[in-house]
Amino acid sequence: MADPKGFLKNGREVATRRPVEERVHDWNEVYPGSVGRALLPIITEQAGRCMDCGIPFCHQGCPLGNIIPEWNDLVWRDDWQGAIERLHATNNFPEFTGRLCPAPCETACVLGINQDPVTIKNVEVSIIDRAWESGNVAPQPPEWLSGKTVAVIGSGPAGLAAAQQLTRAGHTVAVYERADKIGGLLRYGIPEFKMEKKHVDRRVEQMKREGTVFRAGVQVGDELTGDRLRERYDAVVLAMGSTVARDLPVTGRELGGIHQAMEFLPQANRVALGETVDDQIRADGKHVVIIGGGDTGADCLGTSTRQGAASITQLEIMPEPPQSRPDGQPWPTYPMTFRVSSAHEEGGERVYAVSTQEFLGDDDGNVRALRLVDVVFEGGKLTEIEGTEREIPAELVLFAMGFTGPEKAGLVEQLGVDLDERGNVARDGSYMSSLPGVFVAGDAGRGQSLIVWAIAEGRAAAAAVDKFLTGSTTLPVPIPPTARPLVV
Ligand SMILES: Cc1cc2nc3c(=O)[nH]c(=O)nc-3n(C[C@H](O)[C@H](O)[C@H](O)COP(=O)(O)OP(=O)(O)OC[C@H]3O[C@@H](n4cnc5c(N)ncnc54)[C@H](O)[C@@H]3O)c2cc1C
Ligand code: SF4
Repeated sequence: MADPKGFLKNGREVATRRPVEERVHDWNEVYPGSVGRALLPIITEQAGRCMDCGIPFCHQGCPLGNIIPEWNDLVWRDDWQGAIERLHATNNFPEFTGRLCPAPCETACVLGINQDPVTIKNVEVSIIDRAWESGNVAPQPPEWLSGKTVAVIGSGPAGLAAAQQLTRAGHTVAVYERADKIGGLLRYGIPEFKMEKKHVDRRVEQMKREGTVFRAGVQVGDELTGDRLRERYDAVVLAMGSTVARDLPVTGRELGGIHQAMEFLPQANRVALGETVDDQIRADGKHVVIIGGGDTGADCLGTSTRQGAASITQLEIMPEPPQSRPDGQPWPTYPMTFRVSSAHEEGGERVYAVSTQEFLGDDDGNVRALRLVDVVFEGGKLTEIEGTEREIPAELVLFAMGFTGPEKAGLVEQLGVDLDERGNVARDGSYMSSLPGVFVAGDAGRGQSLIVWAIAEGRAAAAAVDKFLTGSTTLPVPIPPTARPLVV
């Protein structure tokens, strides 16, 4: 156990973000310097609040099964080398989760029953940031090669985790990515102010040194067809994400100035990093309306703030969630409560329980306003409240309503793999699709989800591929998703 009286002596303290008025003028992370370094003065005390419970529910809360009490104890004892070894044993990329995970481990922390939970996510990012800074993250190339080849399609967190595990197991792995740079949504979805891209670059460099081969700018399904892929490789991992965005086909949808979040965010990310984008979709001086809450909506909000929007309104069809855990979502489940992201601290207005009826245009064919109406959920269905219709100014409308699954045209159709009832690539308990030797990991199989799940699935799929190729595996297998009822 860390400090036996830690949780009695010390309250919860989290990393302090930079002042809003400073950070909205740049694209850097909202924490000063490296968040891990910023946390150093408080993190030993915070790790010491861990009670090392007999049954650590935080393990169950974390999809990766991170061995949280062990690294809390090591941090408290100032054994940072031991802590990073324990953390890397279950998580390939703690710098991603330590910055971006919604931390379902913390809502499952036993201390959270009647006190504030341990700051698990902050401890995690402190361990990995310190490890990088002190040169303790070395490449781990395999000692021997199996002679087997694997193609990983997609370079998001699922593809990267699968590729790193399989390369280290001795297989020859090529990661194909249609974008010009590696990283999936970590690269072009998530803005720099949430995670600077240097963290992705550093991992990709480590993986290259371990022997993983990266092929960016290749749309698999074009020249490299599904058949050729299967001829050339002994196994294939589909980690193509869930990229078909949900649309809103109401009157006026065709007007100029209405875009999907994933048309807007990648351009903003490129420009933030010094690239030039012709005809960039920008928020400067405009009344911006974001339709949909969630991470994507918050990222559009923070980006529009930094681009200098005149006003930003975020619309949500569901009612405002409660401030504290509702009775129906008791500890240790992950509750739906009102959350304030860094972007919400910076401005914008959130409007709940409203539905968009139509978009109204100006003489040039661009959107100028949005007509909405209040709604209630009654008897499981949505009802509009008569007399509450109103217009709000909207010169840039961004859709952040989620994604419906992987793209079917191209590779998925060429392979002819079965889909599940939600349109994702179907897989069995070993992450294998209906085609032998073709595996699925991350959002492509799970549907739109989280980075922590993508890494967990990439690791699990890698173990299944290794067993398929060699008959057995020593790669760790995270607990199957069906065994984890606590996490949304
Ligand atoms: C804007 C936004 C913000 C988010 N913020 C968070 C957050 O803060 N925290 C969190 O936990 N989750 C967040 N998420 C969700 C998270 O990013 C995803 O769950 C996660 O990235 C899924 O990982 P993946 O590897 O399955 O797929 P992705 O990251 O989507 O990567 C798939 C990759 O496959 C490539 N690809 C697809 N088809 C082909 C093909 N035919 N050939 C070659 N390449 C192909 C794509 O270009 C893409 O790069 C966010 C999502 C979005 C959209
Ligand atoms: S990956 Fe997420 S759930 Fe797991 S320990 Fe880190 S913050 Fe918690």
